[in-house]
Amino acid sequence: MSVLPVVKYGNTILRKKVKFINPDMISDLRNLINNMFDTMYEEEGIGLAANQVGFDMNLMVIDVSHLDEYKNIEPMVFINTEILEEKGYIEIEEGCLSIPEIRASVKRAETVVVKFYDEEGNRKTQKFSGMLCRVILHELDHLNGKFFTDYLSPAKRKLVHNKLIEISKNGYPSTGVIL
Ligand SMILES: [Zn+2]
Repeated sequence: MSVLPVVKYGNTILRKKVKFINPDMISDLRNLINNMFDTMYEEEGIGLAANQVGFDMNLMVIDVSHLDEYKNIEPMVFINTEILEEKGYIEIEEGCLSIPEIRASVKRAETVVVKFYDEEGNRKTQKFSGMLCRVILHELDHLNGKFFTDYLSPAKRKLVHNKLIEISKNGYPSTGVIL
């Protein structure tokens, strides 16, 4: 087991769009994928994007199986994910391993259809809703250099501004915030 350090808000790798992975190289990612799952479980997250552990790659791991209604859903790996369709809108509270102690309600699509490769290199097109849709969209944002706090209204963003500066300096804020 190898837990990797999670990079925090303020690190430039979290503000850039990551690179797609050569599909022929997917079999080489096994170790990194296992380490990403280890890291996500250790940090008690439900999703993790590769750039959150310092890798410039379009790769994310998700496991929502601790939630009752998803207990039969296996942990999932998404490589080179592209959104084909988004529908509906729903507001759900989010947090982020790269922005500790800050939570806020964010409006995102209710369902999403994505195209991706799984960890075996199989091409897939699949529709997701509920918490899976939410986590996929949150992690995909990371791979595109975005944070959930980018969606806050100017007034709310002002409230978290200093906390985000504290996180970029110290890795954590002086106090938590829920918006
Ligand atoms: Zn996040």
